[in-house]
Amino acid sequence: MHFRLSARSVFIRLLLVLLLSAALGFIFGVALPALLIATLALLIWHYHHLFKLIDWLWKSKAISPPQSEGIWGRIYDGLYRQIKQQRNKQKALNERIRRFRDGAEALPDAALVLADDLTIQWGNKKAHRLLGIRWPGDLGQRIDNLLRAPEFAKYLETGVYDAPCLLVSPVNNEVQLELRLMAYGSDQILLLARDISRIHRLEEMRRDFVANVSHELKTPLTVVRGYVEMIQTTEHALDPHWLQAFNTIESQVTRMDRLVEQLLILSRVEIQADIETNTPIAMPRLISQLVDDAQWLNQEKQHKITLELDEDLGITGIDTEIKSACANLISNAISYTQANGNIQVRWCQDGNKGIFSVKDDGPGIRPEDINRLTERFYRVDKSRSRDTGGSGLGLAIVKHVLHHHNAELGIHSQVGKGSEFVIYFEQSRLIDLSETQVQEGAALTDA
Ligand code: ADP
Repeated sequence: MHFRLSARSVFIRLLLVLLLSAALGFIFGVALPALLIATLALLIWHYHHLFKLIDWLWKSKAISPPQSEGIWGRIYDGLYRQIKQQRNKQKALNERIRRFRDGAEALPDAALVLADDLTIQWGNKKAHRLLGIRWPGDLGQRIDNLLRAPEFAKYLETGVYDAPCLLVSPVNNEVQLELRLMAYGSDQILLLARDISRIHRLEEMRRDFVANVSHELKTPLTVVRGYVEMIQTTEHALDPHWLQAFNTIESQVTRMDRLVEQLLILSRVEIQADIETNTPIAMPRLISQLVDDAQWLNQEKQHKITLELDEDLGITGIDTEIKSACANLISNAISYTQANGNIQVRWCQDGNKGIFSVKDDGPGIRPEDINRLTERFYRVDKSRSRDTGGSGLGLAIVKHVLHHHNAELGIHSQVGKGSEFVIYFEQSRLIDLSETQVQEGAALTDA
């Protein structure tokens, strides 16, 4: 235990020692040499402690410093306190790191901590099992050198990590992974990979089930429709009650047929989700054809349909899917706009985006419904939608097609004023048709 030392008391003590030695020296008539000897002794004492300190810092393994009094005692104590504080901090930090690692090991997912240059800093055991990445063996390696799936390379290239990246595990091709990247700390990235094989298999089963059921329903529906048409066109006059019954059967069969057709399109789009979409499509020709076909649908309501086209602008993609998406937007505008409405169809480039827009002056859609429109079977007004023969699948098909083509759907609507449905195509999909050869008829295959 040392008493508090102030600079003043140290100097007073030094002065006392020097005065005392000068006084003693004066008594014996050697005042100056006595003063010199005292100064030298003081210097030696300080050097002695300085070397003790160096020895302790560089050679000693003990954390407790050498014992000393006075100013050197204070120095040793201060250093000891610092070391102890540092040790406690280190201990707390180690404890935190241990807890983080235990937590990360307990995760059901593979976890990797990456530096901002994508080099691996840390990984849990599941990262080895799911991604084949060892820690600390792969420490400092770039993740894209170890995970070489093209989907992952593309995902990194986009630099947008809002949605997960799906890929097959490099360790076991039966395992389907969902990979997510997120900012971690100030300059690190956390990569989480989850085994979604079970969900993936269930999703596949659901898709196959819907596709098979829809396919199987087509034949009986065709048979029923054939018989109904045969009866309706029979030479013998039918009782009006029966005629009405057969008309109802026919319209319901038509509805069901359309529903089955849309379900088949939806499952086809879902099944094709992994197929590369790079065929050139002559959009002006495809859209003109759709608008011509729409005139047939428009006979009853007599809307004024205007068309504005950039004749040289095309895209790459799957023509049948694009045709289906554009047709849905046009037929919705015709169905949901009151008679004699105005519908504007537009295909052009705006900045670096390709834009397909269908604008109507129909009833509009409430903001709370807009976000739900692309859900399967979602209809704003079920009875009105049923009257128009709507199934609630049209915009779900549009959403899937656009996702497959990295395009986005914008819905701008005001109740009482009308709606505009806009498809935004990425610049990477746009092509100049004056320079590109598009296969004749390719864009007009039936959806
Ligand atoms: P549906 O087969 O019922 O038309 P969609 O998925 O194509 O299904 O559309 C979903 C719902 O969105 C429709 O039921 C309708 O209420 C609304 N909707 C779609 N297009 C328009 C539009 N142009 N104007 C007003 N409402 C629309």
